[in-house]
Amino acid sequence: MGRLAPDAERARARFGAAAVKHASILPGARIGVLGSGQLGRMFAIAARRMGYRVHVLSPDTDTPTGQVADVEIVADYHDLDRVRAFARGVDVVTFEFENVPCEAAEAAAEFVPVRPGGGVLHVTQHRGREKGFLAAHGFPVAPHAIVDSAEATRHALAELGVPAVLKSADFGYDGRGQRVLRAADEVEAAWRAIGADACVLEAFVDFALEGSVVAARGLDGAVADFGFVENRHVGGILDVSIAPARVDPRVAARAREITHAVLEALGVVGVLCVEFFLTRAGSLWINEVAPRPHNSGHWSIDAALTCQFEQQLRAVCGLPLGDPSRLRAAAMANLLGDRWSDGEPDWKAVAAAPNVKVHLYGKAQAKPGRKMGHLTALAAAPEAALADVLAARSRMARSGGATPDALP
Ligand code: AMP
Repeated sequence: MGRLAPDAERARARFGAAAVKHASILPGARIGVLGSGQLGRMFAIAARRMGYRVHVLSPDTDTPTGQVADVEIVADYHDLDRVRAFARGVDVVTFEFENVPCEAAEAAAEFVPVRPGGGVLHVTQHRGREKGFLAAHGFPVAPHAIVDSAEATRHALAELGVPAVLKSADFGYDGRGQRVLRAADEVEAAWRAIGADACVLEAFVDFALEGSVVAARGLDGAVADFGFVENRHVGGILDVSIAPARVDPRVAARAREITHAVLEALGVVGVLCVEFFLTRAGSLWINEVAPRPHNSGHWSIDAALTCQFEQQLRAVCGLPLGDPSRLRAAAMANLLGDRWSDGEPDWKAVAAAPNVKVHLYGKAQAKPGRKMGHLTALAAAPEAALADVLAARSRMARSGGATPDALP
């Protein structure tokens, strides 16, 4: 066992894992991570910096997380015996993406605390359940219907009107498994293309801006957030985040308030992100909830007193949360595999910007749409950070692309 506080060691010896639920898990202890992508990697770096050991389980090898973890276990999430053995070797389990099967979280919870708990996974890994939960708790969500056939979709579309967005209920992220419907005769093809048993049909939101709040809730119930951040998506995938969002402070305050309430309602111990649409009329609607650190919070690694990954570590270990204050304005730009199409990018040209930080995730193969890394620029104001990060990203291309991307 890794190092627990002495009273926790005694409690575990007498009563097992359940008794250490409320004890702090201290540096030297072993953290188990289910999932091995870039979020796990950045979490593992934060954990190792604080002297924790990191074990990761996923079906893959030489993964972004495995490369920086102490132990990389290759197993299917459905192989519950392997998951149990994994859990027996650590002091707490967390996950880095919400599509880990709930059974895996439950199997791990037989031995050690799993944070956030399996119940949070259950709600957030299914769009229908998530929307139902949010609506039932009075949170603002776009008008929607849960549908289980093309015919049901046609009926719901007649109610909601066009355009509308059809999204698979399961395993959706980064705009995958979705189709915009602009006419009733598009339903059949969209239903077939998505190929899911259940979908959510949602009114198309003519938003003025997309934004998100990443926040953490500790074991003691304390909540801390990273403020309202402005997000720009391209093709359904996050492209750029700007912190702070350039909005009326009352909108930002309301987004933070809603996010705190979501954390409370779900009883999260860990980090959670709420993604919002800001409508042209000034209302905030929740688009999606992710019970983990989020791409739109990556800027916090370089520009906040405590980053989202350290905050996740503190929360899941039962430590007090850190101060999430932003130290400077920041802008983050994702680096998708498309930017490798002409070979390895010109890193020296990117590094020429002294206020830009390069983060690469250790993925061997660059594929279109694959998140390979990100850049974060720090500046005195969000506009300057945005201009600098886009200029730095433009310099990646060896084929002379010196023009910055268009400013949003
Ligand atoms: P999602 O995977 O649901 O977060 O969707 C990815 C992106 O697609 C969002 O960030 C939006 O840019 C866009 N999108 C999703 N749902 C809607 C909607 N109901 N109305 C307008 N745009 C949407």
